[in-house]
Amino acid sequence: MIKSVTGTKDILPSDIPRWKYLESTVEKIFRYFNYKEIRTPIFEETTLFARGIGEETDIVGKEMYTFKDRSDTSLTLKPEMTAAVVRAYLEHSLGAQQSLVKLYYIAPMFRQERPQAGRFRQFHQFGAEAIGSPSPLLDAEMIQMSYEILKSLGLKNLTIKINSLGTPATRENYKNVLKEFLLDKKDNLSDDSRRRFDTNVLRIFDSKVESDQKLIKDAPKLIDHLDEESKNDFDVVKNQLAKFGIPFTIDSALVRGLDYYTKLTFEIDSGSVGAQTALCGGGRYDLLIENLGGKPTPATGFAAGIERILLACENEKSFSVTDLPIDIYLVRIENELESVVSEIASKLRLENLSVDFDYLQRSVKAQMREANKVNAKYVLFIGGDEYKQGMLKFKNMSTSAEEKISIDSIREFVAKIMQ
Ligand code: AMP
Repeated sequence: MIKSVTGTKDILPSDIPRWKYLESTVEKIFRYFNYKEIRTPIFEETTLFARGIGEETDIVGKEMYTFKDRSDTSLTLKPEMTAAVVRAYLEHSLGAQQSLVKLYYIAPMFRQERPQAGRFRQFHQFGAEAIGSPSPLLDAEMIQMSYEILKSLGLKNLTIKINSLGTPATRENYKNVLKEFLLDKKDNLSDDSRRRFDTNVLRIFDSKVESDQKLIKDAPKLIDHLDEESKNDFDVVKNQLAKFGIPFTIDSALVRGLDYYTKLTFEIDSGSVGAQTALCGGGRYDLLIENLGGKPTPATGFAAGIERILLACENEKSFSVTDLPIDIYLVRIENELESVVSEIASKLRLENLSVDFDYLQRSVKAQMREANKVNAKYVLFIGGDEYKQGMLKFKNMSTSAEEKISIDSIREFVAKIMQ
């Protein structure tokens, strides 16, 4: 038997109510903050991500699903959304119509990571990008928005970490400070980190090698080397979060996996999901739009992992949803009335009711079992003596009350039960 590819997962009908509930919560909150939805293709030219995310990142170096199509063009299944959104923003000159463009998305992403609980190769993210303003208030808004979404899903065990990576100038300056600190320790670094020492020294913080982690633990902190502008902006974010009543901690090691971040970065972790604790991460990326060929444009955003959030919700039992009940289940008393039943079902469906019936010529008892299984609000019996007299019997499944109606008065019956 052919199975699904490692690291991918079917979202089965029984999972869907939880996904829909999450998606509608996400959409509602994005609407409160006036973000508009954008959808971009599943794949893009590989150079978009190589340039947008950064050659030295784990995503680009190790995790992308990259392939040549039949015209020998190198394409990549999108591993994250920001670069794709910025590509669309530039391609369609969205900034020309509106100086601040606020967008959100809900979409599948692809990364060839080692699968484990909460980590997949196809997973789903929702997120937002606000392109066109340097205001730290917008950064605070990103944190507030993602936190509100998680809270609206009933999650409790959350921690918010924030950090500032400073302006590009701060970063260049800090890279030298870091290099100086690491210079005499360089030989003890892992191969990857030694290479990163020359290509992008900040990435050494991402190393998962324990000896690297030990070495950089005592490194000077970027947050202690911020310039005035970065410091002020960071203060605004902190003050604003305090005004919103949102708790946070400062984590100077939070450099995030992508190269294009400047100033604020943040992550929201859950204590309810095992090893992969990050539900959501984001920050400001004032360099990306320029990197991708646009004019310098400040921007900020975040992305959150849906599978991981649903796992946290499940573990915390933070909300419960059931599948929508169907309105009416039609029970056929005599098999020869099959086509009459189908006709009545069709009429009721056109009256905007959800209706189903048995297509397997099963007994009345089996049909009633099915009606219970699909959680029908009403059962309409078609057949028997009533039918001969032009009548139908219907039963309210929650009160067990039964009533007879004439076939001609189906519309009135519908109007009554739809109230
Ligand atoms: P990132 O784009 O790496 O900042 O990730 C943002 C969020 O997406 C993370 O906090 C996770 O919740 C989720 N995420 C990232 N990678 C994966 C993955 N391989 N499987 C499941 N969720 C992921």
